[in-house]
Amino acid sequence: MDAAIVTVGDELLTGDTENTNATWLCARLDERGVGVERVTTVPDREADIARVVNEYHAEYDAVIVTGGLGPTPDDVTMAGVAAAFGREVELHDEAVAWLREEGGYAGDDLATGTAELPAGSRPLHNTEGVAPGAVVESCYVLPGVPAEMRAMFAAVADEFDGEQTYVERVEAAEPESELLDRIAEVGERFDVSVGSYPGETVTLKVTATDPAEARRAAAWLAEHVDDVGENAE
Ligand code: ATP
Ligand code: MG
Repeated sequence: MDAAIVTVGDELLTGDTENTNATWLCARLDERGVGVERVTTVPDREADIARVVNEYHAEYDAVIVTGGLGPTPDDVTMAGVAAAFGREVELHDEAVAWLREEGGYAGDDLATGTAELPAGSRPLHNTEGVAPGAVVESCYVLPGVPAEMRAMFAAVADEFDGEQTYVERVEAAEPESELLDRIAEVGERFDVSVGSYPGETVTLKVTATDPAEARRAAAWLAEHVDDVGENAE
């Protein structure tokens, strides 16, 4: 299973808000063995949301959209997602009922203002806030507020199921450019993929579908690169 993440919000594009939702979702999907192929941030603009959701829905098994669900006019995500699927937004009776009964918004206009979802979608209740999310085909629309987004994702997490992978990391005390031969060789000797992430040292990340293979590859690397000795700092 592969997936794309679309984070919506002008504040993300101006740098006012750090895009923690994207990072958090990437980690949760990776844990479940779901490959994240795209993370895209778009402004609070209906046509932009519609275009990217439409494209990613065609390309990937699932699309997760966060942000822009509130009742204010600048929150247009549901309209954008609906347009991506050629649907209208309409008041969702079940979402309204949930807000009135469980959400404590009896007789409140808030219930109707936020419960407009793409026609025919499955509502996702917001246990941490107000605005409901929705599932349209394989597109999951979640709130922007991180706590709300996390709680709502937890409710659908089991629907994200991929091939489990296993990771081993080896720290190398050599310049990345000098490690290229070993990085290539470990990829040939073992059924793994290798990533190289330079920082103070170079982190070599070995990923495999078989945990023993990941361990074997990491052991080989540990023997063939200069390790970060206790006196290396
Ligand atoms: P609500 O239903 O509460 O109005 P919403 O779904 O409409 O929420 P937004 O209005 O887009 O969400 O954003 C609510 C808050 O969450 C803002 O403070 C925003 O900066 C923050 N937020 C939105 N998207 C992200 C993101 N990708 N990462 C971290 N924070 C985010
Ligand atoms: Mg917003």
